[in-house]
Amino acid sequence: MDCIFCKIAAGEIPSDILYRDDVVIAFRDINPVAPTHLLIIPVKHIPAVTDLSGEDTSIIGYMVNVANQLAKSEHVAADGYRLVINCGQYGGQLVPHLHMHLIGGRKLTNTIG
Ligand code: 5GP
Ligand code: ZN
Repeated sequence: MDCIFCKIAAGEIPSDILYRDDVVIAFRDINPVAPTHLLIIPVKHIPAVTDLSGEDTSIIGYMVNVANQLAKSEHVAADGYRLVINCGQYGGQLVPHLHMHLIGGRKLTNTIG
């Protein structure tokens, strides 16, 4: 599978991994837009949030739970942070493996599109 994030999950591409279990991994974005910019991804290759169905859908709740824990350990929870999932071309998704951005550590702009 020629997928950057599958290769990161498999350890074939190095990354700064902060959390890993059987379901998700979290690592630092290579091009951070804020002091804290993490990516939370399922280990399983799911192309985009639009592809979730059935029991796979519960993975989003699991990813949010991991993100919330990381926000605390990264010390951005108290001031607030943003969780973002881009989907498809118009949604700005560049990597076709489902991922959630955790962005924090500065006051973010109020624009969302
Ligand atoms: P998207 O636009 O698909 O929502 O976000 C993809 C994110 O993946 C971007 O923020 C980009 O900087 C990040 N990214 C792309 N390639 C790599 C990589 O090889 N390693 C890491 N750590 N992040 C990457
Ligand atoms: Zn993948």
